[in-house]
Amino acid sequence: MADLAPYAVTGSNSRGRQVAEAAPQGRSEFQRDRDRIIHSGAFRRLEYKTQVFVNHEGDLFRTRLTHSIEVAQIARSIARRLRLNEDLSEAISLAHDLGHTPFGHAGQDALNACMKAFGGFEHNLQSLRVVDMLEERYAAFDGLNLCFETREGILKHCSADNAAKLGEVGERFLNNRRPSLEAQVANLADEIAYNNHDVDDGLRSGLITLEQLEAVPLVARQLNEVHHAYPDLPERRVVHETVRRMINALVTDLIRQSESNIISQTPATLEDVRSAPAMIAYSTEMNEQQRALKNFLRTHLYRHYRVLRMSAKAQRIISDLFGIFMADSRLLPPQFQSLAEHDRARAVADYIAGMTDRYAIREHRRIFAVEEGV
Ligand code: MG
Repeated sequence: MADLAPYAVTGSNSRGRQVAEAAPQGRSEFQRDRDRIIHSGAFRRLEYKTQVFVNHEGDLFRTRLTHSIEVAQIARSIARRLRLNEDLSEAISLAHDLGHTPFGHAGQDALNACMKAFGGFEHNLQSLRVVDMLEERYAAFDGLNLCFETREGILKHCSADNAAKLGEVGERFLNNRRPSLEAQVANLADEIAYNNHDVDDGLRSGLITLEQLEAVPLVARQLNEVHHAYPDLPERRVVHETVRRMINALVTDLIRQSESNIISQTPATLEDVRSAPAMIAYSTEMNEQQRALKNFLRTHLYRHYRVLRMSAKAQRIISDLFGIFMADSRLLPPQFQSLAEHDRARAVADYIAGMTDRYAIREHRRIFAVEEGV
């Protein structure tokens, strides 16, 4: 990675790892972080976790794994163009959803409600918990012992109460500082990925239609261009051609606006980035357009009655499981029983959050269905 910007994160300006380790041979510190994330158990489980559609609803829909890979692709393109540390943006992108519960946002809301009296449940914080503590892969430390900047990027949001308990990695939420530009890139790449793939998956599922989407300026503009250039294109190709142009429009706008923000803020070092306002951003016009798309998806896709029915089932499964493990921790698998001795609710939340969609459904059956084996 030649020619990084002076304010990019590097192995030498990094705050390093919690447990000191020898420098990696033949790869950078952040390539090592990425490699550790890919080899983790939590990363493999993303394959069977919902983004919007529950995993068994169709083989073509995004899962959290393919979502994370798309985020990494978008983040790397942007980071490279801005001369930022592409490996760091990639590592953050691949790890950002490791703490997500089964059943997408419905699962997160259900687990948060169950944990209300026990400190709550936040998926960003859980992603950090996975890489800091829960992965058991190394002899010398718990978790993956990732670099500070990777951990900081994973912790995209955090409540002030939780931030205060986290030490250095939570400080920026308390003293109004920004994370690295690489983290800001991964954060916006996440949004670009899901807004666009949810349009694609929403259309494929038949829950939303192209006619409805014509009311959304960001989509309508690209759709008109595609219709104009290719009047006889079959609908599936129209969709793909439109979505790829939308991604391109968002990425191009983001790069252009961010470059101009960097020029006006003139950061010289990584510390300047942390004290400046967020510099990775869309233009005002594009920001409005992407918000309109988000609003459309919220109203027409995420609140579609068929999505809400699945969410209701998911909430039921999670609150049933939480209730029974809280009532009797002897029903937990052995590795969570020892955690439960110290903090039962958190151990139950860790166990449930780690489940894939299908594992949660099976576990629910094993415990509650009399005719099912245990
Ligand atoms: Mg995401």
